[in-house]
Amino acid sequence: MSAADAVVIGSGFGGLALAIRLQSAGLKTILLERRDKPGGRAYVYRDDGFTFDAGPTVITDPTCLEELFALSGRKMDDYVKLLPITPFYQLRWEDGVVFDYVNDQNELNRQIAALNPKDVGGYHRFQRYSEALLQEGYIKLGHVPFPDFRSMVRVAPQLVTLQSYRSVYSMVARFIDDDHLRQAFSFHSLLVGGNPFKTSAIYALIHALERKWGVWFAQGGTGALIEGMVRLYKDLGGSIHLNAEVAKIETAEGRARGVTTKSGDRFTASIVASNADVMHTYGGLLAEEPRAQRTTKYLSGRRYSMSLFVIYFGLRRTHPHLKHHIVMFGKRYRDLIQEIFNGPQLPDDFSLYLHAPSVTDPSLAPAGSSAYYVLSPVPHLGAADVDWSVEGPRYRDRILAYIEKHLIPDLRKDLVTCRIFTPENFKHDLNAHLGSAFSLEPILTQSAYFRAHNEDTRIGGLYLVGAGTHPGAGVPGVVASAKATAGIILGNRARAGAVA
Ligand SMILES: Cc1cc2nc3c(=O)[nH]c(=O)nc-3n(C[C@H](O)[C@H](O)[C@H](O)COP(=O)(O)OP(=O)(O)OC[C@H]3O[C@@H](n4cnc5c(N)ncnc54)[C@H](O)[C@@H]3O)c2cc1C
Repeated sequence: MSAADAVVIGSGFGGLALAIRLQSAGLKTILLERRDKPGGRAYVYRDDGFTFDAGPTVITDPTCLEELFALSGRKMDDYVKLLPITPFYQLRWEDGVVFDYVNDQNELNRQIAALNPKDVGGYHRFQRYSEALLQEGYIKLGHVPFPDFRSMVRVAPQLVTLQSYRSVYSMVARFIDDDHLRQAFSFHSLLVGGNPFKTSAIYALIHALERKWGVWFAQGGTGALIEGMVRLYKDLGGSIHLNAEVAKIETAEGRARGVTTKSGDRFTASIVASNADVMHTYGGLLAEEPRAQRTTKYLSGRRYSMSLFVIYFGLRRTHPHLKHHIVMFGKRYRDLIQEIFNGPQLPDDFSLYLHAPSVTDPSLAPAGSSAYYVLSPVPHLGAADVDWSVEGPRYRDRILAYIEKHLIPDLRKDLVTCRIFTPENFKHDLNAHLGSAFSLEPILTQSAYFRAHNEDTRIGGLYLVGAGTHPGAGVPGVVASAKATAGIILGNRARAGAVA
């Protein structure tokens, strides 16, 4: 049995950021991770000399990461280097339109005007709207917890002023006419699991967030960023256990007391914070705790984000003309997204995000070769009944053939290595409810107070962090959730100390 001040379950970006904050504040912290490597969705595969980041690759708001190092007077640069990416994304359509989404205003204006001159003015109005959202929704409220309904009521006037009750797409469409540009400025919510036609317009802030702080990639891949965070945590004296799957959160007299792992190891602590999937936390780790039942029921009735199908592949040659982040829009936008979020089956067509990291960092592939992943948003396991053991290889072949036809000639001939990750992997490898890639869907009725709370008010000493909590998925989101959760934990300790 080991004892600590705090136990954090799960080493995703959120769990790691929280563990760093607690350890920086002097709390003896133990981080438990079920997999053999840290990072959660930011896991790393090393196949045949290629390095594949499994998940996040678009790093926005580097300041939220730098802050974690600055807490203990350190510099992120000493642990990991971030490289700027330009264009942020290249957007491609089947009709031949290509749009380089850059941070250079004149170049943006030129490309917008080429598609529709009237949209240049509309874009500038959209940008101002997005900046206001960023200020209110992220800078002011991103790291502020919503523990009770009153906290939601307090921000209601701002939410109404910013028209957060409308969808991202409907707001973009108010400013911009061209269909390609409407897609270009609304697809971002998909990056955090949101349907642009349903997700609150607040998520249009992602545009301003990218314009303000840029888009970055860690040298050595996102895995190097995770390694840097783990090194920081260890330098601070924190301990991390891999291959340590928590089976149960121990409670007594209405308080969390620690955890027991599947292999029977016990860790006691008066603070238990879960970075694991919120349904897994309540329905699984707290299955025997009566005080958890109401939340389990609430969470089981919520809507969950879509899943993803990901192919990691290496090619025996390089393609230096490719951009680092490429979005390949298919023929359909609205109807395709509708089917991805609601099923009832896997759509025949797809829109893809292609990640080509060796364009920026050749060390991720053997000399003369190049590494990629391509992801296709797909319905989660509750929305479409797909046997992924059969459909996975077929779907992989269709996607690779599509990329070969539209972007990378001879792709299949040059293939050196290839692996897939399906909704079933999200469920089994990450304990993700319904195999969702982003946890609770970010719609207004599931945001802020209506998301899983950073602190459980029925079970003392129990906290949550990560994509299922406020403000939501995405690296800046889960790192902000860690700030919110750490703020509550440290505030509670300070109050308890003052009383004692
Ligand atoms: C393919 C993909 C691409 C993405 N791209 C981007 C991007 O480019 N930019 C961006 O900002 N965001 C991106 N995202 C979203 C982002 O990756 C996630 O929202 C974020 O990483 C989730 O972090 P988290 O803290 O919620 O934890 P997770 O990463 O979900 O980690 C949770 C951890 O808990 C562990 N765990 C679960 N159960 C237990 C248990 N019982 N005991 C111990 N450990 C347990 C899991 O193994 C996992 O390591 C992407 C997501 C995916 C899937």
